[in-house]
Amino acid sequence: MSLDRELRALRGVGPRRAADLQKAGLTTVGDLVARFPTRYEDRARFRDLATLRAGDEATIDGSVVSCGIHLTRRRGFRIFDALVRTRDGSIRAVWLNQPFMADVIRRGARVVLHGRAEVHERGGLQLTNPQYEIVADEDGTSLHTGRTVPVYEKTGTLTARMQRTLVHDALALVASDVPALLPAWVESELGLPPFARALRESHFPDPAADLDTLNRFRTPAQVRVILEEFFHFQLGLLLRRRAADAERKPRPVVVDDRVRAAARAVLPFRLTAGQRAAVKSIVADMTRPQPMHRLLQGDVGSGKTIVAVLAAVVAMENRLQVAFMVPTEVLADQHLLLLRRLLEPAGYRVGLLSGSLPAAERREILDGLRTGRIRFVVGTQALVQADVEFADLGLAVIDEQHRFGVIQRAVLREKGWRPDVLVMTATPIPRTLALTVYGDLDVSVIGDRPPGRQRVTTRSVPESARDDVYRHIRSQVDGGHQAYIVYPLVEESCKVDVRAASRMADHLAQEVFPDLRLALLHGRLTGEQKDRIMQAFAAGLIDVLVSTSVIEVGIDVPNATAIVIEHAERFGLAQLHQLRGRVGRGPAPSSCVLVYQEPLTEAARARLDALVHTEDGFVIAERDLEQRGPGDVFGTRQSGAPALRSGDLKRDHDLMEDARRYALAELDCRAGGDDDRWGQMRAAWASRFGLSAIG
Ligand code: ADP
Ligand code: MG
Repeated sequence: MSLDRELRALRGVGPRRAADLQKAGLTTVGDLVARFPTRYEDRARFRDLATLRAGDEATIDGSVVSCGIHLTRRRGFRIFDALVRTRDGSIRAVWLNQPFMADVIRRGARVVLHGRAEVHERGGLQLTNPQYEIVADEDGTSLHTGRTVPVYEKTGTLTARMQRTLVHDALALVASDVPALLPAWVESELGLPPFARALRESHFPDPAADLDTLNRFRTPAQVRVILEEFFHFQLGLLLRRRAADAERKPRPVVVDDRVRAAARAVLPFRLTAGQRAAVKSIVADMTRPQPMHRLLQGDVGSGKTIVAVLAAVVAMENRLQVAFMVPTEVLADQHLLLLRRLLEPAGYRVGLLSGSLPAAERREILDGLRTGRIRFVVGTQALVQADVEFADLGLAVIDEQHRFGVIQRAVLREKGWRPDVLVMTATPIPRTLALTVYGDLDVSVIGDRPPGRQRVTTRSVPESARDDVYRHIRSQVDGGHQAYIVYPLVEESCKVDVRAASRMADHLAQEVFPDLRLALLHGRLTGEQKDRIMQAFAAGLIDVLVSTSVIEVGIDVPNATAIVIEHAERFGLAQLHQLRGRVGRGPAPSSCVLVYQEPLTEAARARLDALVHTEDGFVIAERDLEQRGPGDVFGTRQSGAPALRSGDLKRDHDLMEDARRYALAELDCRAGGDDDRWGQMRAAWASRFGLSAIG
């Protein structure tokens, strides 16, 4: 049977189940059998209670002697507990605040429990909130116990146990010669089993397989299955890259002395070595016949904007139009001011397109873009609306690309005829991950910073130290500098949150800094109001800007030297790093204070510590990845990380590198390329990973 067969065709999968599975991304047999269990349990030999010690993680089996719900003295806290008799004793298992357990576990049931042993208050050991499975008698032993069993994440209404049965049934239908992409030479070189067998053993391992290796997902069978997925992914990327290289843009740009002089004329300072190298590779791309697909990576404050501006001048000198897309209106406005200052003296017209533009102005801009009168437009996602047309879009710049969805980037590119595309990001990512997320982009990195920058001193303090923090802000203002105070908003549109920030701003204005000039900035203000505030702040007419995280990306006011982040425990690492990047942009020493509310969770404490101890965006990104995983950091699908089933970018990045090598080798030795097999492969790739990877 083919792996493409729909799960609905399986016995026991009705419409309801099928819908649950679909929601979890599982439509076909191939989807189901390629999705690994989360872990494996040794149920061949259950743990004897006699050897169990506090702190041990163990799997036990037994039958429920008695069970019931108890109320605790702490108000309303309900405990379900069960006494389980095993072959050598009995142990208590408790589930806190999960009264529904009374419907799940009944007296007399045979159960398998997996969890950590703790000492309970009256002495003796107990399992607290263990994972559980009811092992019914009828189909008892072979699948669910008496062997090493796979444990799956619950999917909708499907329990781990139901999935085990389903996977088992599905595997029975997988032909032993099921087609696979990983070349045979890789299998034999690494001593891996063929794909079908590997799938089977990834779920129902050989009794000899080592439990520890299984749980590290490194048995030959698991490696084989992961490599299949990674190889498929990399091969698709490389083929797509190859297809892109075959494209030709209508006319490559030409760089001569006149163009060079024009670029030099707008340059307000000397470029750093990193910036110079970036400009060089970008301009080289632009002069090539193929469209540019380049990512410019550089930590916050490394000076990416000017690099893009120089590329824009080169494009405009070649009579091409430039679109510069940014994620927020505040940032669009700021860029507009800067671009006008740099470019208008040289005679280039710069327009703004954002959602809050009055209709008449908007019409005028659209007209200017359609006729080509406006050469440079900066804007928000308003740029990708259907009625925006360009006469001759030659360069699309996407700033803070991680804030955009893949679709928005694609739509902007479609507005031109194969324009050059430059995406910029301050999220530095480890190389191995770059192979995946940015797999078919060329990458430039700005590794240095503009001269004269000083360290941003960072500390974290509890709320009780707030007076200190206010004194610190005051001293900065007394010294002629400015400050930010940032409040977290769960959602920028949420009224309740905005009210909380407003109340705090009032309190600060009336009681703490009555003599200073304060303003409040948040996402619910109109574009014009935001403009006015940002311009006043940039001009030094406001001392303290109280803001929500709308200032998170891009904002550049070098005279601001202090940032206070309230409720720092609620922000993610990358976000904190971005916020901190608002200061330290000029020659004066800067500081960042993270104010947290106690109690701190361990994870929040780790985040704050990481921030206090390093300013290196690269280190912070790696920490962020460790703590949250790539899915959350990059937002699966939405922003680029592929949705993987067997592989895990964090756990298996070494295999991703291997897969890339194998894919390159395979492509090289078959230079002809697009035979039938690969044609099919590309179609499958598009539906499987199609929206992933930035193009
Ligand atoms: P980011 O990479 O975060 O987008 P920006 O482009 O906003 O950084 O630059 C940060 C600040 O550094 C800006 O004020 C910019 O004018 C300044 N800057 C950038 N490059 C240089 C340079 N080579 N010399 C001096 N200042 C620079
Ligand atoms: Mg920027």
